[in-house]
Amino acid sequence: MVITHAHWDHFLGMNEFNTTVIVNSLTHQKMDVWRKYSYDDRSLQEYVESNKITSQCMEIIQQEIPERDQFKLSSPDLVFEESLTVDLGNKVCILERIRSTHTDDSTIVYVPDDKTIFLGDSVYGTTTDAIFHYKASQLLPMIEDIQKYDANHFLLGHESICDLDEMNVFWNQLTSCNRAVKSISLDHAIECFEQNNLRSPQGDELFFLKAFVNDQILISK
Ligand SMILES: [Zn+2]
Ligand SMILES: [Zn+2]
Repeated sequence: MVITHAHWDHFLGMNEFNTTVIVNSLTHQKMDVWRKYSYDDRSLQEYVESNKITSQCMEIIQQEIPERDQFKLSSPDLVFEESLTVDLGNKVCILERIRSTHTDDSTIVYVPDDKTIFLGDSVYGTTTDAIFHYKASQLLPMIEDIQKYDANHFLLGHESICDLDEMNVFWNQLTSCNRAVKSISLDHAIECFEQNNLRSPQGDELFFLKAFVNDQILISK
């Protein structure tokens, strides 16, 4: 089992799997913090008050792990640096830590036989100081890191499976929105988008424009 990045919704259930757990070294480092946590109600409440975890995270832990006074997050079995090739006998899997707009510890898994790539949450944006944003600086490097794999099936952490056409639509939306954002003004970004594309932004595009504007806002602080 590969843990794609150190977000609690992706690893807190790891103890349930009686199998080899693989992570990259940065994910390992980030998960160490959670390995030192205690999970009784009082400790959880303290972590919420000191902003170490969110109250939503606490509630989900309380629901999902009813017996947790002795709960300790286990350690991974295999830690790699940049990349790792795993031969499962009948299937080769390539693991790589890629540049990502979501976290700096994002691992993807590529299965060449099936032209399938597991992206985890790597292509999503991120939240900093309660502001959701897309890291413009990581967008093109990330797309480059993913597009070098010859894949037809893309599995994202919180989406149903995408094919190559759907991914290309997604990349185009992200890159055209990124191109339109040059300042902390959403109005300017929308104007610029309309000039570049000869139409107004639709659906997700408005969401992405806001996220790239938010990135500019965070950078300017
Ligand atoms: Zn995540
Ligand atoms: Zn996630």
